[in-house]
Amino acid sequence: MKQYKITTEERVLHFKQPAGTSRGVYTTRRIWLVTLTDGERSGVGECAPLPKLSCDDIANYGDVLKEKGNEFVAALQQGDEAVAAFFETLRDYPSMLFGFETALLSLSSLTSHPSSLFDTAFSRGEVGIPINGLVWMGTFEEMQQRIEEKLKKGFHCVKLKIGAIDFDAELELIKQIRNRFSYHDVELRVDANGAFPYEDALYKLELLSQYALHSIEQPIKAGQWAYMAELCRESPLPIALDEELIGVNDPEQKRQMLNIIRPAYIILKPSLHGGMIGTREWISIAQDMGIGSWITSALESNIGLNAIAQLCSSVYGDAITMPQGLGTGQLFTDNIPMPLEIRGEKLWNIEH
Ligand SMILES: [Mg+2]
Repeated sequence: MKQYKITTEERVLHFKQPAGTSRGVYTTRRIWLVTLTDGERSGVGECAPLPKLSCDDIANYGDVLKEKGNEFVAALQQGDEAVAAFFETLRDYPSMLFGFETALLSLSSLTSHPSSLFDTAFSRGEVGIPINGLVWMGTFEEMQQRIEEKLKKGFHCVKLKIGAIDFDAELELIKQIRNRFSYHDVELRVDANGAFPYEDALYKLELLSQYALHSIEQPIKAGQWAYMAELCRESPLPIALDEELIGVNDPEQKRQMLNIIRPAYIILKPSLHGGMIGTREWISIAQDMGIGSWITSALESNIGLNAIAQLCSSVYGDAITMPQGLGTGQLFTDNIPMPLEIRGEKLWNIEH
């Protein structure tokens, strides 16, 4: 019989440039690595709650993670059913669940490559996954320069964070991009991170829709289902939910929320939205209702980024055309090496 053991290690990663997010500016990022061994092999997973955003951003995270790790090991000794039951108890701890799922898949990898969590064309290094180029919040000039860089690198889908500078300036920026690049050349996604007050939201969506945008993420703050539902009905621009999904962890509640709001898309971040199990559950419920989706990383190190990319290829198959949000891994000076490489606008696994 295998003797499982788990260790947890806290790490602080340093951003190359301070990262402006909807929750302020980050210069460092705290994560926990969990290493699972069975006496012969080992697998590493990443637990990366986002401060003030994750539903499991708790003060004593490290201690709780250790406790849950011990329960995980006990479940592993009992077999698959016990593991499934244990994972079910982690619905409200999505970042921990995601780390444990990653460590177990890496440990059980059927190939000699621990980065291969699933057997897919992506994990075999045969195809890359198309990703969007992310342009961080900044001044008008900074954002314009960053967009130019992304286009030069070959990205056809650019995601802009808006809601930080003046709305008119942002609209002007989008207009200028559209003057130079038609929507056949560049797909533009915008993310408002809840910045629009409800009263102005529809008007702003109408102004934005002049520029043939692909979608807007979270135009208003999460937790206002009736308002969001109304926007989704009235908006000329497709709406994607992101923060709205945080903390909605029960399958019936997920179904109810999507049924009320009826967004065009949902965006899945495994660390925040239920680990791998919860992400698959969200996507399957959304599919039943004709709601589209894509998967995005959430400032994880390369360990988490690799797991998210692998999950993408397992969920969406070998010929992904919808760009995914997987480009954030190059942000840290002290990232953990993984066989990932961005070539043009695609993320590749280069272990093979
Ligand atoms: Mg977002």
